[in-house]
Amino acid sequence: MISEFESLKAHNTFGVSAQARYFASFQTIDELRELLEHPIVRNNPRLVLGGGSNMLFIRNFDGIVLKNELKGIEQVSEDEHHYYVKSAAGEVWHELVMHCINANYAGIENLALIPGCVGASPMQNIGAYGVEIKDVFHSLEAINIADGSMRIFTLDECKFGYRESIFKRDEKDCWVIVSVTFRLNKRAVLHTSYGAIEEELDQMHLDNVTIKDVAKAVINIRSSKLPDPKKIGNAGSFFKNPVVPMAVYRAIQEHQNNAPCFPIDENHVKVPAGWLIERAGWKGKNLGNYGVHDKQALVLVNYGGATGSQIFDLSTSIIEDIKQKFGIELEREVNIIA
Ligand SMILES: Cc1cc2nc3c(=O)[nH]c(=O)nc-3n(C[C@H](O)[C@H](O)[C@H](O)COP(=O)(O)OP(=O)(O)OC[C@H]3O[C@@H](n4cnc5c(N)ncnc54)[C@H](O)[C@@H]3O)c2cc1C
Repeated sequence: MISEFESLKAHNTFGVSAQARYFASFQTIDELRELLEHPIVRNNPRLVLGGGSNMLFIRNFDGIVLKNELKGIEQVSEDEHHYYVKSAAGEVWHELVMHCINANYAGIENLALIPGCVGASPMQNIGAYGVEIKDVFHSLEAINIADGSMRIFTLDECKFGYRESIFKRDEKDCWVIVSVTFRLNKRAVLHTSYGAIEEELDQMHLDNVTIKDVAKAVINIRSSKLPDPKKIGNAGSFFKNPVVPMAVYRAIQEHQNNAPCFPIDENHVKVPAGWLIERAGWKGKNLGNYGVHDKQALVLVNYGGATGSQIFDLSTSIIEDIKQKFGIELEREVNIIA
């Protein structure tokens, strides 16, 4: 059923007010295909919505929002070293992670507590604590918005990069992802060297570290550093970490010799955007009912009642300031829905 003038406030983790001209949810692929044939869907802009944790509405959406509610997780096959687990796109990402941990399927424990749905995870190749979904991705099924046909995308076809995939570029707005199949390890290879995971594990005084412990460490760290969207509106990291030519980084180092970076190749490094924003004096900036989080400068927050365009304008001011101070153009990670 298609409803009209639906509030999107509860459908975005920034908690900003916005309205969808039309709104429909689907629980089966048949329902989705039926919707895609409807004149309202054919003749209006479309927006596929998962958990709304990576988008900022800066005005009402004058089209149809298609809310994905496809459910189901199953192990579809296995080989000597792997389990293949297929999840419907509407499953909550963290619940899939916990399901895998409880079944002892290894590989996504570092991605615990990332908000949102499974269907959005390939969109920007979600990542945290040294792991990205491309590391455990097998394939996905997607429905073509134009004709309802189904296509399987393999790992190579998704063209994953840092917070990137083909679905944000060449194939933008063409597909509804309906399921994702992950290739998880029977024998765990733990990734604990990133961020404060090792420190956190040390405090847990364990003899034998398991994937469950790594997930617990990640959950503890994330809960202490990131604002809970249920309490303070936000969409996680608002900006990507920029990859810059070595010469740009060296110029920063002349004034800030402790500037952090991660090597990318001989000529490029990645500079943490949070460090740049903090150095430029924005960390904890409070503009009344919105601002920059005081523990994590990458996160813009809505303390309640801010509009999407106020938050967007703040992001523009930060981008301009960083460009002026460091010669680096920050790119937004959050999808702006205008
Ligand atoms: C507190 C917090 C922490 C976060 N931490 C991280 C992190 O560590 N790493 C990280 O990568 N991200 C992080 N994020 C961002 C976000 O959680 C992820 O990008 C997540 O995958 C978004 O899922 P969603 O279902 O909410 O997507 P939505 O916000 O609903 O949608 C995001 C984009 O994907 C599209 N989309 C959604 N579902 C589908 C589908 N089924 N088919 C086609 N297109 C679809 C939407 O149209 C939109 O363009 C964080 C967000 C918050 C609030």
